[in-house]
Amino acid sequence: MAGNKKKKTQVRPLIPRPGARYTCFGDGLCCTDIHGIGPLTKKEVASMRRIDRKSAGWNDDHDDYMLNTAADGGCVFLMADQRCSVHAQLGPEAKPDGCRRFPLGLVATPVGGRITTDHRCPCRTMGDRPEIRPEDVESSISDGGSRPVADRRIKRIPMSPKKELKFSEWEPIEAEYLKRLRGREALLEVLDAEPFPALHGSSWDKQADEFIDARDGSQFGVAMAWVGDTISALQNGRSPRAPGRPWAAAFDRAQARSPKVGTSRDVFADWIADEIWSLKWAEDYDFALARVELATRLAIGEDICARLRKTGARADRAAAEAVMMVELVGESDFWTEVKDCMRPS
Ligand code: SF4
Repeated sequence: MAGNKKKKTQVRPLIPRPGARYTCFGDGLCCTDIHGIGPLTKKEVASMRRIDRKSAGWNDDHDDYMLNTAADGGCVFLMADQRCSVHAQLGPEAKPDGCRRFPLGLVATPVGGRITTDHRCPCRTMGDRPEIRPEDVESSISDGGSRPVADRRIKRIPMSPKKELKFSEWEPIEAEYLKRLRGREALLEVLDAEPFPALHGSSWDKQADEFIDARDGSQFGVAMAWVGDTISALQNGRSPRAPGRPWAAAFDRAQARSPKVGTSRDVFADWIADEIWSLKWAEDYDFALARVELATRLAIGEDICARLRKTGARADRAAAEAVMMVELVGESDFWTEVKDCMRPS
């Protein structure tokens, strides 16, 4: 029988995005309620509860098992020196899988496993960081043994509602985008998309109000309020408020270890490059919509960055805080609703 010529996806070889830089400096943002800390498997809940009975449990907001946070928003295992007590006392393998993995991810493609990174942590966005090497991150993205575990598998690339490309056809197109992002061109020009498209069945005003209402006392809620206020300001000329920066200490630490000041363009370009490289968008929609929604979050992020600059924040830090906010919002159900409304019905 003739062999199956359809190319399957694979996780090896591990492929970092050229130019992506990261190491954990312990800036300490990822172990807080900047995002939900989880989800955990039932087995992980049981082992965390063996260490601290109240450390983990069902979370109605996330509809899943999560680690609990203390009154200051930090994980109950986060120590005053920003180290994890589980890691310190029992080793990295004792931590829940999500803790070992963050901010790394893996997407299986026909040519190998792309290593991806989230940008909400200043360890990924600020300072002098080493290039990501497969051998340094492999254990973080692997299961208990040595098998890398993919977050998603992408074989073909949807370019528009009616056009799909083979992965081999997509790669040179993507390489050109990544090259232009590394240059000096305006980022909106590279994306070649207009931000803030008309929303079908909703409006930017309504969405902004929902983001602002999502403020719930967590750092995530504050980030949502920043984005909601910024949408209001950009779309309706309302005066933006400054909902506070409860994450400031983590960025203070990042700034203290980063004497060389980077540009805001580089921070935004690096984030957009990873958004494209991660292929998260290819799971649910197409590259045409991805460019529009990225252009919209970029416009929001650049406005937040400009406001932070006015308060005296240096360029790379202002951009890193803005990227953290627009990335968090982009991962939320609130933004999924916005993206659904961007699609003509
Ligand atoms: S268990 Fe440790 S690594 Fe995971 S969120 Fe808590 S402090 Fe951070």
